[in-house]
Amino acid sequence: MNAHSAPTARLDVQSIKKDFPILDRRVRDDKPLVYLDSAATSQKPLQVLDAERDFYLRHNAAAHRGAHQLAEEATEAYESARQSVAAFLGAQESDIVFTRNATEAINLVAYALSNASATRPGGAPLTLGPGDEILVTEMEHHANLVPWQQLAERTGATLRWATITTEGRLDEASFDRALGERTKLVAVTHQSNVLGTINPVASLASRAHAAGALVLVDAAQSVAHQALDVTELGADFLVFSAHKMLGPNGIGALWGRQELLAEMPPFITGGSMIETVRMDRTTFLPPPQRFEAGVPLAPQAVGLAAAITYLSDLGMTAVEAHEAELTRLTLEGLAGLKGISVVGPVTTEDRGATVSFTVDGIHPHDVGQVLDDQGVAVRTGHHCARPICDRYSIPASTRASFYVYNTPEDVTALIAGIESAQRFFA
Ligand code: PMP
Repeated sequence: MNAHSAPTARLDVQSIKKDFPILDRRVRDDKPLVYLDSAATSQKPLQVLDAERDFYLRHNAAAHRGAHQLAEEATEAYESARQSVAAFLGAQESDIVFTRNATEAINLVAYALSNASATRPGGAPLTLGPGDEILVTEMEHHANLVPWQQLAERTGATLRWATITTEGRLDEASFDRALGERTKLVAVTHQSNVLGTINPVASLASRAHAAGALVLVDAAQSVAHQALDVTELGADFLVFSAHKMLGPNGIGALWGRQELLAEMPPFITGGSMIETVRMDRTTFLPPPQRFEAGVPLAPQAVGLAAAITYLSDLGMTAVEAHEAELTRLTLEGLAGLKGISVVGPVTTEDRGATVSFTVDGIHPHDVGQVLDDQGVAVRTGHHCARPICDRYSIPASTRASFYVYNTPEDVTALIAGIESAQRFFA
């Protein structure tokens, strides 16, 4: 048990909210802020801000450079953050690579594969060429689609994709049809940032492995919202960003299977990742340092570790249960309104607390503007997953996303705001 959760493992949201002063903001003619955009970025608790500030105030130095005391402390703080991330994911710390965000982590893998393909063609499983295939899904964020399109272009491989059903689930039959012995890599999101759908990644990973493919899981929308263990998922790579999980901007991570990381050539090169450098050639450090060129992101890593401590104290099972309740209330509230289409599953089963919808006769941006006028912050647009709009023939959608600091009253404010948009545009 901890400060914010009762013995029944329910979150004490009123006490949690005190850790997020920004949630006391008043916006748009003094309306209380209702923040429903955590899928874009979460707010940060004082504990995270304090940890980063304390690092700068007392320990600031370049980690992994220099032998003075501050440099040693910075290195220790940085490496201890790596241990926190590893423990949170059920991983080994040597398999955690700090990156700038999930996007960079995906690009790291994509560029390592194309660098391997260029320098040692035929060196399976890390190389691709004409005739090989990369399999993604129609519900990917652009961060887990565009790098694979580009990798296909650079290597001559073919990009294929599994489709999504009318209900907003992955069409597993289309996944199985697209998967085959030519598939070298499957890249799939754990939870869709638009549909809220949670994909059966463990099952997809075992099918992909049976076909001989590597599997990358985009956990940008899941790691913050459910207990996650990389060994249970059975993937080869997993990526996420700290800023969506109460942590600071500017840091994320790649987890990779040790034997793969060990064989992967670097993506970004420079200081901190080298073993020896001569004018004509360089050898590289083993992972994770091989993939962490430049002065390490120590203050951000410290902030991420504080976010992990905060979430672990809440308990990820309690976080998940809290969000499931808010999702249920939101889906019920939307079902009670006329003219609403939820873009994604309409039951709480295997879906997270991200609910996108359209309102008949009103452009999603107008819905967002009316909500904003009432202090309710949602996101409108294609949410960086444009193919989902094409799939459902919609120009955009309005998205409400919930987190540990949201309450049932926030759901009520959302539903009331949509009703007033409907009245306004009637
Ligand atoms: N994947 C998914 C599913 C996301 O929702 C996001 C962020 N919206 C990303 C990847 C990319 O995250 P970042 O912009 O932090 O790199």
